[in-house]
Amino acid sequence: MGKIGVVTGIPGVGKTTVLSKVKEILDSRGIENKIVNYGDYMLQTALQMNLVKNRDEIRKLPIEKQKELQTEAARRISQDAAAMGEKGLLFVDTHAVIRTPSGYLPGLPKHVVEALLPNVIFLIEADPKEILNRQSRDVGRMRSDYSSLEVIQEVMDFARYAATASAVLVGATVKRVVNVEGNPSIAANEIINAML
Ligand code: ATP
Ligand code: AMP
Ligand code: MG
Repeated sequence: MGKIGVVTGIPGVGKTTVLSKVKEILDSRGIENKIVNYGDYMLQTALQMNLVKNRDEIRKLPIEKQKELQTEAARRISQDAAAMGEKGLLFVDTHAVIRTPSGYLPGLPKHVVEALLPNVIFLIEADPKEILNRQSRDVGRMRSDYSSLEVIQEVMDFARYAATASAVLVGATVKRVVNVEGNPSIAANEIINAML
């Protein structure tokens, strides 16, 4: 197994966009890599169980159900990761905290971070006003529960605490990366450099 990066950040900051650039760059350099989206794994199970219609409904499910889906996703992702080669880079697109009606749910509690064993936990950040604009342009997603400057600022604060707490459990580093407006490649290159 090579290195593992867990990539976190508030909904709409651009994690999935930046990671698609990471893939593009690593592929062009012939470096083995795999990007997995934690929400995809949770959504697949949630759809099979008829619990939700789309990925933005997962965080509104009863907290015990979210935790069950979270545990199952960690198990399946670590299984899939085991197939990676010695020099491969694995990136997990996820969240350090999830804002739910019951409070902030850690995205990387002990059992999850110990299953993933990241070398680096990335915190993707941007100016809260830019995040709001990105969310409003991205009409395919429903992020209204994260759509005020106050909420965005609070989630960014909690995400920093949570990412650090998770890193302590496994001795990962925490790296803050800014997703610059109009140029997600800058963040992608910073992520790659931190992993090589
Ligand atoms: P979620 O956690 O909800 O999945 P995300 O962090 O993965 O969100 P993306 O879906 O990657 O966010 O991006 C949200 C929107 O912001 C998209 O419409 C995307 O095109 C846009 N975006 C991403 N990065 C940038 C950037 N650097 N400059 C401008 N727009 C961006
Ligand atoms: P995303 O597309 O990254 O927003 O993921 C979809 C949804 O999956 C999120 O809004 C959360 O409800 C859920 N999710 C993703 N990662 C985690 C995690 N590590 N722990 C709990 N829920 C998560
Ligand atoms: Mg995403």
